[in-house]
Amino acid sequence: MMIERRYYGEFGGAYIPEILVSTFEQLAAAFREAKNDPHFWTEYVNLLSTYSCRPTPVTWAENLTRHWGGPRIYIKREDLNHTGAHKLNNVMGQGLLVKRMGKSRVIAETGAGQHGVATATMAAKFGFSCTIYMGEVDVARQRPNVFWMERLGARVIPVRDGTRILKDAINEAFRDWATRMDDTHYVLGTACGAHPFPEMVSYFQSIIGQEARRQIVDRAGRLPTRVYACVGGGSNALGIFSGFWDDPVELVGVEAGGRGLATGRHASRLASQDGTPGVAQGYKTYFLQDSEGQMKETHSVAAGLDYVGVSPILAALRQEGRVRFEAATDQEVLEAFSLTLAKEGLIPALESSHAFAQAFKEASDLGKDDIILINQSGRGDKDIFTIADAFSDPEWNKFIQRKAEENHA
Ligand SMILES: *Cc1c(COP(=O)(O)O)cnc(C)c1O
Repeated sequence: MMIERRYYGEFGGAYIPEILVSTFEQLAAAFREAKNDPHFWTEYVNLLSTYSCRPTPVTWAENLTRHWGGPRIYIKREDLNHTGAHKLNNVMGQGLLVKRMGKSRVIAETGAGQHGVATATMAAKFGFSCTIYMGEVDVARQRPNVFWMERLGARVIPVRDGTRILKDAINEAFRDWATRMDDTHYVLGTACGAHPFPEMVSYFQSIIGQEARRQIVDRAGRLPTRVYACVGGGSNALGIFSGFWDDPVELVGVEAGGRGLATGRHASRLASQDGTPGVAQGYKTYFLQDSEGQMKETHSVAAGLDYVGVSPILAALRQEGRVRFEAATDQEVLEAFSLTLAKEGLIPALESSHAFAQAFKEASDLGKDDIILINQSGRGDKDIFTIADAFSDPEWNKFIQRKAEENHA
């Protein structure tokens, strides 16, 4: 059997067990057909315009602009999607494909639970049965999301293998898929994994960039100088960047710097020196692994960025120099989160706050004629406990107090 093995430079591919080859072929063919069907994109946009909040607006951050005294700052508002983030774009698109393939059951992996909730929401809307695999450790950490998945009608299966986190949930989901390929589709949550997932997920997320380019040109009268997005698996970043590939616009992907790149406690595969190329989970990319290929432990204040691999498309774009990669530390992120909340009344997710943090660090490099666009990939309501913890730390409180005084000085 011939399988499409799409590569991006040296990255990507489809390294999958023999038993799944025909399923991947079927999916790649269904996706190719849908992409070539002029009605499919219209159906997708109509669905999101009536079920979620598309087109999501672009907001001019007037107070942040004044605060930094440099470039005009605009924010793309993916936080306004139903279930609170850009993740819904991907799952609704895959839902339409599941319908086209005539399947009736979806499965997904989830770490922090956001992708699980989005998938369970899509399954409820389309009438699919739904099973979510989640590491036992994550089930315990993310009770509210488990509660919602179950109320939405999904079965949540705690995975007890390995370290009982996201990567173990992915393995278990693949095991399920291999036994029920005829009626089941695996809804992967980001632009990673074997072909066609990276291409398919970034295709659905490209709606962000399509809208954003039009909106910023309408609003600001021209293209932005720079666009910032946080990078977990890479789907929101590829989504917004895709609007600007052919433009003279600098694209900046911001990874989780955790406690600092020098500490090794981070999830920066492309901006740090710690990521190395390898093949795992069906594809080739940069992974945080040791010299034996064992995946390392990652750390971030934002659960959605805490991942050992990254989209092979982004790995290639780094090599080509088209996207610049940076990392923001937990502390910089909490600071950027606080400032955005205080100045604009917006609550960015801790993931999205990485993009804000990097944009703020670089604001003084640019002048008043420049424009920057930040992707607010999701809303921060889900981060309430993490943020409350951070602010109950006396050291942090002192730090924020000092910053607030500086800001008012
Ligand atoms: C899941 C998530 C991310 C990380 O995923 P990408 O595929 O890198 O976009 C970023 N922001 C939010 C709000 C998320 O929920």
